[in-house]
Amino acid sequence: MDVTHLDFQQISFLLQNGTIHCRDLVEEYLVKINEGTHLNAFISIFAQRALALAEEIDEKIKNNTAGKFAGLVLAVKDNILFRDTRTTCGSKMLANFVAPYHATVIEKLIQQDAIIIGKTNMDEFAMGSSNETSCFGPTLNPHGERRVPGGSSGGSAAAVASFQATAALGSDTGGSIRQPAAFCGLVGLKPTYGSVSRYGLIAYASSFDQIGPIARSVADCEQIFYAISGKDPLDSTSKSYDYPTEKLKKHHFSQLTIGIPEDDFFANIQPEIKQRWLDTVALLKEKGARMVPIELPHARYAIASYYIIAAAEASSNLARYDGVRYGFRAGIEDDLGKFLAENRSLGFGDEVKRRILLGTFVLSRGYFEQYYQKAQSVREFIRSDFLRAFQTCDVILTPTTPTTAFKLGEKKGDSLAMYLCDVFTVAANLTGMPALNVPAGFDENGLPIGLQLMGKEFSEPQLFLIGKELEQFYHDRN
Ligand code: GLN
Repeated sequence: MDVTHLDFQQISFLLQNGTIHCRDLVEEYLVKINEGTHLNAFISIFAQRALALAEEIDEKIKNNTAGKFAGLVLAVKDNILFRDTRTTCGSKMLANFVAPYHATVIEKLIQQDAIIIGKTNMDEFAMGSSNETSCFGPTLNPHGERRVPGGSSGGSAAAVASFQATAALGSDTGGSIRQPAAFCGLVGLKPTYGSVSRYGLIAYASSFDQIGPIARSVADCEQIFYAISGKDPLDSTSKSYDYPTEKLKKHHFSQLTIGIPEDDFFANIQPEIKQRWLDTVALLKEKGARMVPIELPHARYAIASYYIIAAAEASSNLARYDGVRYGFRAGIEDDLGKFLAENRSLGFGDEVKRRILLGTFVLSRGYFEQYYQKAQSVREFIRSDFLRAFQTCDVILTPTTPTTAFKLGEKKGDSLAMYLCDVFTVAANLTGMPALNVPAGFDENGLPIGLQLMGKEFSEPQLFLIGKELEQFYHDRN
């Protein structure tokens, strides 16, 4: 048995009954990390620290004092602060930035004995869909020769998919948890906006950003999500919510209504993905679920609206990186204007600079109403579309991505093509609603296909429930 192939539910069971030990488990992951260096999934690795902690946890298990995440060996995206270690955001700008405190999500997980084994590679400042904008070089997808793992949490997904960690944390602003999870054959959740504290997450677009889990099973995602969610006094946008998990266990498929978006939503997608989606609709019908067609007339403007608002928020959030308080210094000392300009020109990569320029433009006088405000109204229209749809259905089923993992470099010079990777994912961020990627088998090249379940705010328990059914079905089929 290779323990690194197990999910946390299984690992926890074997640890508690003494079949395996935490120290051996961490050693196994370190072997996988060594074997997988060509994938470039990690920016920092904490081998000694993890081994020492594992020994302490073995003691605690013996004494029956271990927390519920004993044996969870976690890879964390490098935009989430882990005290006294580097948090780079995949950028030269923050290459030497050491986190002065823990993000709330980290605090919550390590208190329960989760072990953080390393910080993962990502698109610079979480801007991208392929992990190619990192200043530490691209991450590769373990499922295919020279294929991207998706982005921006590509390192997190690649680490879990190549058995270098039990599960990972990512962040999702427009799809960055779900798309890499889909490309790497994993489960990934973008939680309801506000359900998970953003304290200690380096901001990209604050009205969209959410931290969430990437894992090998829906049950792992579920457990991690419940542990990290909840009101945090350090994040005023966080909310408390009493998730009715017990009630939902009794839920039956015959009471479930699934929203199926009209056909033109699926123009230009890989035929195998469309077919898998149709098969899944048929499967859920067979299980007794009711299908209803839904109309989302403004969904076609989701990408345009998202990229305007995200760029605007990014231009504001990234203004703090000037080399004075934070970030890279180019070495100019005699001229303040040049000092600031050089620090930012050399510290940021091209995609980040493109977003800052675009964001500054859409916020500038004369263009603010035309672009930013209009994008915000479109966002409202999109939210209304979804709220209306959710009056007639419980969840909406779509593919997560229009294609499976593409080749390294394939879209690198073409920003628009890259942005279009997010057609199915950005709506959840624009509306604040939760969405779950569930693996649904492979295409003819052996690359994973992912399907997305989206629900109304705080409907995560329902997404997990349906997700588990789909997971079981595709697991038995493969
Ligand atoms: N690909 C999207 C972007 O570049 C989403 C990124 C994310 O979710 N962090 O903005």
